[in-house]
Amino acid sequence: MAAEVKPCLYVYGDYINSNAVAKVVKEDNVNKIPFEDRKKVYMNALITYGDRHQMIKCLEEMSECTKEICKILNGGENFDHLAEEIADATVTLEQMRLMFNINDRVCEYMDAKVQRLNDDLKKQFH
Ligand SMILES: [Mg+2]
Repeated sequence: MAAEVKPCLYVYGDYINSNAVAKVVKEDNVNKIPFEDRKKVYMNALITYGDRHQMIKCLEEMSECTKEICKILNGGENFDHLAEEIADATVTLEQMRLMFNINDRVCEYMDAKVQRLNDDLKKQFH
């Protein structure tokens, strides 16, 4: 039987309060290698391996991420594997943002979509 899917405040096996969520999110956003330095590595990878190879790699990593989410939906509890695949997918997606020179547009879309989600949530509960 599939595991119950917990709503958003379920992290690492326990429901946590909103202060704890804020702390987790803040920690998630602190990479030791800043974006400007990651960009240099990504450009090197794109030059070394080529655009097509890195696009295929991105598809592979998104697929592995999908697989880990499916495992959790089917009752798995390996959140470390999920974290690793989210990291892999993010690294390759960041390369796509550079490759197609759409980083600014992605940021704009993200802001708009988070704002829309927030607006939708306000309609749900108010
Ligand atoms: Mg992977």
